[in-house]
Amino acid sequence: MKVYDITAPVFEGMPVYKNKPEKQPKFIKTTNAHVTESKLEMDAHTGTHIDAPLHMINDGETFETLSLDKLVGSAKVFDLTQVEDGITKADLENLDIQENDFVLFKTSNSLEDEFNFEFIFLKEDGAKFLAERKVRGVGIDALGVERSQPGHPTHKALFGADIIVIEGLRLKEVAPGSYFMVAAPLKLVGTDASPARVLLFEGMPQ
Ligand SMILES: [Zn+2]
Repeated sequence: MKVYDITAPVFEGMPVYKNKPEKQPKFIKTTNAHVTESKLEMDAHTGTHIDAPLHMINDGETFETLSLDKLVGSAKVFDLTQVEDGITKADLENLDIQENDFVLFKTSNSLEDEFNFEFIFLKEDGAKFLAERKVRGVGIDALGVERSQPGHPTHKALFGADIIVIEGLRLKEVAPGSYFMVAAPLKLVGTDASPARVLLFEGMPQ
């Protein structure tokens, strides 16, 4: 059985959304004799992370309401590395996307290590298509599932359909196909997002 760790490493100076300095994580280390302890200061949307509805909907549900059942199970990786600009309904409708699937989109973002302001994102009609198909989740290799579209229609279409959103995946080494996924966020309570470790297992019963 092969395991793929599709999580972005978290470190000071890592790629962050729009390269905003305030989004950089800080590790504040203190050492007393032989004891070192680090305090982490970081945005809940750092690196590979999962959004909760509160992120885009005032009074939306907070992170602990996301069911682990939706984060552990089969997942399908699709190769969309040829897509330019954004993923549309036309890019998705001929793919094998079924009800309850967790779909992971590998785009040209996975081939770049720096933050790209023109990153590939999921367009509104693509998000609406996934909502109609009733997928259980969508993961993308960009730090945002959309590129700050006015009104955030992609996030809203997905949250409105109870679809889990994972952002910041690293899929360069992963071939398209079916996997068993374990997406394990921190057990945060009351937040709008949480960093997560996301693993794909190849050759496991689905
Ligand atoms: Zn986010």
